[in-house]
Amino acid sequence: MDLLKHLKKIVISIPLCDRCLGRQFSNLMPTSDNETKGRVLKDFLFMNEMRAREENPRKSLKIVKALAESGHEPSLSFMKKNLGLDVVSKPCYVCENGISSLIESATASIIEKSSEVEFKTFYVGLTLPVSIEEKDEKVKSFFKLKFGEALKNELNREIIRKVGKTLQRKPEMKRPDVLFIYDAVRKQVSIQINSIFLKSSYKKLVKGIAQTKWRGLDSENTTPSIEKMLEEVLLPAYNGSGLKFHGAGREDVDVKMLGEGRPFIVEILEPRIRNVDLKKLHLEFNRRFGDMVEIAEFQNAAYSEVPRLKLEAEIHKKSYRVVFETERKISEEELRELSERFTGTVVNQRTPLRVLKRRKDKVRRKVVYKAVFKRLENNLYEASITCSGGLYVKELFHGDEGRTVPSVAGLLNTKIKIVEMEVTGIEGG
Ligand SMILES: [Zn+2]
Repeated sequence: MDLLKHLKKIVISIPLCDRCLGRQFSNLMPTSDNETKGRVLKDFLFMNEMRAREENPRKSLKIVKALAESGHEPSLSFMKKNLGLDVVSKPCYVCENGISSLIESATASIIEKSSEVEFKTFYVGLTLPVSIEEKDEKVKSFFKLKFGEALKNELNREIIRKVGKTLQRKPEMKRPDVLFIYDAVRKQVSIQINSIFLKSSYKKLVKGIAQTKWRGLDSENTTPSIEKMLEEVLLPAYNGSGLKFHGAGREDVDVKMLGEGRPFIVEILEPRIRNVDLKKLHLEFNRRFGDMVEIAEFQNAAYSEVPRLKLEAEIHKKSYRVVFETERKISEEELRELSERFTGTVVNQRTPLRVLKRRKDKVRRKVVYKAVFKRLENNLYEASITCSGGLYVKELFHGDEGRTVPSVAGLLNTKIKIVEMEVTGIEGG
């Protein structure tokens, strides 16, 4: 069926406002808005009937009357002037002439709501009354129209354009700073605020600090954590609802983290403030907690950097300094042999007993790239180890009841007690 026949059939069957008519043919001309398209189509049909009037006046009159009923001005005045008829326009079958006011009230509500939160980019989501979307789809399927735009699409586009223009902000579909959701049934706006990500690295200068907050049932646990310290500095600055800590691996509570520090990304949930002086933040952190934990300057990070950080933590080499005590005295010769034996060695490590509750029991193959052992005094020794990320270093020393092979305790055939341990470097950190 050609366009003209389609158009006549629709106009005669149901009253549609300009916008709802234009939408059914939207993709035939992507430029200009649906209201203009609908108006142009009605004008075109009117002119066509003016020309066809001589051949079939009754049929043409029927179409012009239908046009007038759909609110087409030239048709209304033609009916009045030439036939003395005051045609009463009927409400649009799809929207009951409510679309423009829906766009206006959604735009106004969003603009009002937007003052509650700081953002650069935004997007809009809509909840529409089911009936209006259903009717629009019905028109498309009944008249077999394949080149129309979805109603929600049009409304979204129009509201986004108006909001963006008024507030001078950029729309962004993929991870905008904020998403406004307008509920057209309840006439309410809700806001979804996307997280802010900051990257930095930390040095843990003293023992006894956890990386993240204690999440077990035992709420009595009052071990200080880096996550908690970050919360105290970052949440008031960003007016956020919470914080997530993503570390490039972790060390135990009793292990210091030195060298260049361990990289991390901190995610601030639902920040109502986004413009924050990052330099001030890390200075404030170091002023308050710098005797225990020191962090590097913050940088903005993207959401996609979090999985990369976790992956790199597995790949990157780590260096440790371990001070340990043995039950029997170890000779210089044995220490030299140990250094040679461990340098360039593959370690088979079953999940340590102490983390077995939280982690799956499996064998990990990790590498010790370099190991140097030396005596400090009597039965006290120091080892410098460089190994794969993810190797459990304590177990490499005490052997974990034979679950880590080879181990220092296993090779020396003696018991080992770790006295002190620190991370001295992380590749890429
Ligand atoms: Zn309409």
